[in-house]
Amino acid sequence: MAGPTNALAPSQREALRARLNAAIPAWYRPWVHLAFPSLVGLGVIACALALLHPLTVWQLLTVPAAFVVLNAGEWRIHRDALHRRTPGLTVLYDRHTPEHHMVFLTDDMAIHSSREFRLVLIPFYGILAAFFAALPIPAVLIALGHFNVAMLFMATTMAYVVSYEWLHLSYHLPTGSFIGRLRLIAFLRRHHATHHDPRLMQRWNFNVTVPLWDWVRRSIYRETGRKDEPANESAGATAG
Ligand SMILES: [Zn+2]
Ligand SMILES: [Zn+2]
Repeated sequence: MAGPTNALAPSQREALRARLNAAIPAWYRPWVHLAFPSLVGLGVIACALALLHPLTVWQLLTVPAAFVVLNAGEWRIHRDALHRRTPGLTVLYDRHTPEHHMVFLTDDMAIHSSREFRLVLIPFYGILAAFFAALPIPAVLIALGHFNVAMLFMATTMAYVVSYEWLHLSYHLPTGSFIGRLRLIAFLRRHHATHHDPRLMQRWNFNVTVPLWDWVRRSIYRETGRKDEPANESAGATAG
């Protein structure tokens, strides 16, 4: 099922933002929410790299190969689970399409306070979910005798998830902040900000990290007047 394709009226958007902020529990610590997945991810990477046996050049190719697979996975999960209600994964849709996308729009992407990390970051246990979801692949690789490939695959997966979190949060920082002013962040933010147009979000710019798979799948939005084209099964986009 596709989600909404129109932006809320300004007053509705403000009310939604106020309601979501009011729902953040008093115990919520934004910097812990950012640090937990980062430390788990970096910890797994450090362990995986420490366990490596002497490497061959061919084994090192695991890193770019895994990156491409993960980039394609990010594209597909964003399109199919974050923008469509998928049984078992509805928490992803509920936090993304009707909340994250309705609060942050192309021309108004910045969080108002660090407590709004909660409206941007994936749930804190997401890094653990990614670890356990990826685990069968290194398990099979180890069973087949490819220990180094297994370790590099796991390290790349964790690095990808941590990068996703850091980059996505960076795009939602004020543009005048130290991180928001960085050229690379400004470049990548434009790609993601376009995706934050409710008329475009169901169809274009699904990569939040590097827009490689958007390029492969020809889903990079370019200003050619295609905005009014029906997005898959959901037609009739109007407001912005
Ligand atoms: Zn976003
Ligand atoms: Zn989205």
